Amino acid sequence: MNLRETAFGEFLKPSQIIFDLKSRDKLEAIEELLDSLVRLKLISNKNLTLTRIVDRENLESTALGHGLAVPHARVDTEGQIAVAVGRSAEGIDFDAPDGQPVRLIILVVWNPTIPGLFNHLFAGLASFLIKPENRFRLFNSRDKEELHAVLSEIRFSFPREDKIINRASLLKKLQDIEIKIRRAPKDKLEELQKHRNLIREELDQSLLARFDLLMDRYGYAVAEVVDGVCRSCNMSVSTQMASAIEESNDIYVCENCGKYLVAARKEKIAREKAEKARKEKPAAQAEKAGKAKETARKKPVRK
Ligand SMILES: [Zn+2]
Repeated sequence: MNLRETAFGEFLKPSQIIFDLKSRDKLEAIEELLDSLVRLKLISNKNLTLTRIVDRENLESTALGHGLAVPHARVDTEGQIAVAVGRSAEGIDFDAPDGQPVRLIILVVWNPTIPGLFNHLFAGLASFLIKPENRFRLFNSRDKEELHAVLSEIRFSFPREDKIINRASLLKKLQDIEIKIRRAPKDKLEELQKHRNLIREELDQSLLARFDLLMDRYGYAVAEVVDGVCRSCNMSVSTQMASAIEESNDIYVCENCGKYLVAARKEKIAREKAEKARKEKPAAQAEKAGKAKETARKKPVRK
């Protein structure tokens, strides 16, 4: 297989599409798709693959929002890659970030001998699925053949350089796990290491090398951006970068301290603000009331 420029149709025959999934829940739907891959002899070990996919889902749902999900696992397959697509007219609860039920599942299993493959596939899928008109055509296909024709338009390019879409939320999770591993009791260690390896398999090598370097040197590598300020060095990041971080799951690097920057989780910010307000309340309430208007107008200081 030439991995430089590939069409999705090379991995996906109409026989690998289930146009009307019988399953109404996430686990069953994943199993239904795996059963079809076993029947087609595209995978041999269903139970192992299912375990890996479920482990990955438990780490972070692979639902992308907009009714799409991309459950996946890196396991030994018969070939390099095995793909199955399932459509559900009613939708399946996948714990999606936007809360929407998933109507199209693209399940991907790929061989450990080709690390990084999924990142390229994911980049190709994401750039196609982000367009509303493409999603419309997928969701409104009248039969398997039509759905297959639309999916076959997806192109993947496998660039020579290491430019890979990474997901910042996974990098943050990796850091959380690495920190836990340092203090973990022996009986918890194995489970944590399993999670760590799952994440590391999805991140690209150059990113991990730098991540490990920062972890060694500072004890952490990922900093959250709160109100446009890097939590590691307390310097403002550029407004443009701050809003890009806020809206995406891509990874940026702080120009000042070199840490990887991720958007702080909104609920965490809200919790911290509430906590801060609660602490300040008794002493500073009167003063705060007077300053409220002024604070509201104040912009974060630019570097
Ligand atoms: Zn910084």
